[in-house]
Amino acid sequence: MTAAVSTAPTRKAASGTFLKLFARNRLAAAGGMILIAVVLIALLAPVLPLQDPYAQDLAQKFQRPFSPGHLLGTDHLGRDILSRLIWGTRLSLVVGVVASFGAAFFGSVIGIAAGYFGGRVDNWLMRAIDMLMAFPYILLALAIVAALGPGLVNALIAVSVVNIPFFARNIRGVTVSLAHKEFVDAARLTGQTDLGIMVSEILPNVLPVIVIAMSTTVGWMILETAGLSFLGLGSQPPVADLGSMLGEGRNALITDPHASIVPGLMIFVIVMSVNLVGDGIRDALDPRLRSGALTRPMARTVVDREAVPPAPEVPALLDVQDLRTEFRVGKRTLHALSGVTLQVRAGECVGLIGESGSGKSVTALSVMGLVASPPGVIAGGTVRYAGQEILGAPFARLRDLRGDRISYIFQDPLATLHPLYTIGDQIVEAICAHHPVPKAEARKRALDLLESVRMPNAASRIDNYPHQMSGGMRQRVGIAMALVNDPDLIIADEPTTALDVTVQAQILSLLDDLRRERNVAILFITHDFGVVAQLCDRIAVMYAGRIVETGPTGAILSDPAHPYTRRLIACVPELGGGRRELHAIPGLPPAVDDLPPGCAFAPRCDKAQPACRGGEIALDGFGETRAVRCLFPENADAEARA
Ligand code: ADP
Ligand code: MG
Repeated sequence: MTAAVSTAPTRKAASGTFLKLFARNRLAAAGGMILIAVVLIALLAPVLPLQDPYAQDLAQKFQRPFSPGHLLGTDHLGRDILSRLIWGTRLSLVVGVVASFGAAFFGSVIGIAAGYFGGRVDNWLMRAIDMLMAFPYILLALAIVAALGPGLVNALIAVSVVNIPFFARNIRGVTVSLAHKEFVDAARLTGQTDLGIMVSEILPNVLPVIVIAMSTTVGWMILETAGLSFLGLGSQPPVADLGSMLGEGRNALITDPHASIVPGLMIFVIVMSVNLVGDGIRDALDPRLRSGALTRPMARTVVDREAVPPAPEVPALLDVQDLRTEFRVGKRTLHALSGVTLQVRAGECVGLIGESGSGKSVTALSVMGLVASPPGVIAGGTVRYAGQEILGAPFARLRDLRGDRISYIFQDPLATLHPLYTIGDQIVEAICAHHPVPKAEARKRALDLLESVRMPNAASRIDNYPHQMSGGMRQRVGIAMALVNDPDLIIADEPTTALDVTVQAQILSLLDDLRRERNVAILFITHDFGVVAQLCDRIAVMYAGRIVETGPTGAILSDPAHPYTRRLIACVPELGGGRRELHAIPGLPPAVDDLPPGCAFAPRCDKAQPACRGGEIALDGFGETRAVRCLFPENADAEARA
């Protein structure tokens, strides 16, 4: 699959996926077909060979269905029910759809204005909406029709008005979250008027919400209009919509039930199919539902593997062997990890390095079964902690390890700290999750930790909320939380990427001090060779879900064996290294659902030979401690290994 470049193909693809998603929802598709049939028949009413819906023939009243000349029988005035049904359906559909457009229009205008201007405008508009909402809506509709007088147009207005609050509240909520986004500020900076911004910036973003809200309320509005007509407040005789047909048939419900059952069934069919279609549209349009974000991930990643590789002879602290993690999205399988083998020994710092998208984070999360399932599945390999298998272990064991023996530091501390608790409370919580210690003792421990991560003014800072701190300080809190239960291993996923260079240097030296003081092992994930050089004892280089080279930091930096490693190192500028050209690696990493056979780097490699594209290439050891996955390594020792 190639990435779409211009917007037109993307749009096309998007509408394609919308239809596909919609069609996959069988109920919605069935509802859609029924609805299309009903709408077609209603549209064709003038050209269909129907009898006059108003022609009375009292001699023929209450004919049963299937009687000659009247397929669905006749009503109390001898009028043909089939003809009245089709014309009535037409009327009911028009009124329901127009009412919902009206409600959507006025509701959206009010919602966007309230959300965009905020403050007093918001207050006035929303209080007015609240007043509408204070009445049960059918009562309110009755009151409006009573004031305006009976009639179909007035019923339409009434139904529209009582549905405005639903749209206004929904749209206001979405608009509030958009009104202070950067793109709106940018539009303001270009000098656009408020109206211009609302139309060109806000409206396109709330449009999907409006469509979803409409599709789920049209059915209701058809029903409400029918209800008013049923009570004699909507369409007036001789014109009939489905509601008034039902109302007229009601008098003979026992003796001639068909006169009310037929329109009743039609209302049922229409509302049912409209609602099914509406739900289908909502599910297919809502990007969160599409990506499965609303499905709660399981507490651990699903493990679905055939064979378990045998344990190594000398167990390391963390042993990852041939780990294969996939994302099963629809019919596609993304092979994020295709066999990762990695070891971290006690007290050692191992750097896992690779371009963005190479599978570093997925490796880190797979270790503790934290990859979201669905769609993530661990399809092969093992993870052993101190010689014990983790992936197959009971969940209670995994939970004991998480945050206690093995802890994590993530890239964005603002996203990982809870915004509504003080950092002290959060550190205390991390302690108490594993050790039943009294609150005061836990707090004292939290304070000690904050001091040991060199938090200035720790005693007052402990009661701060995350938003009161700078990025570097928040990351210190993240480190303190990782250290809270004296873990043996910390997995740090790009902990300094979100920080500026000076703060990054401080955090790195802090991590380095801490690991020496406490003898904790670190699996340090980064895309930056400069960072690895400062901190790590060993390096594992990752490309397209595989380790392509491992070895001691110094040896790899001075003498890389894999062409990819060499090119990654060449991307790092050196202070005081004199002038040299920085070479970017041409091309892009391969898509993980379509990996080339053989070496995944071959398409970007300047030394690639036909053999590289042939079959599987093994990670071969050379020297004492190094290994490389390459047929034509750059390093003389590696070349000589065979
Ligand atoms: P990085 O090395 O930058 O940390 P990741 O480990 O996050 O990369 O991602 C590795 C691959 O896995 C990427 O190609 C990404 O598209 C894919 N991936 C990660 N998370 C998901 C997910 N939830 N669903 C589908 N694919 C995912
Ligand atoms: Mg990542």
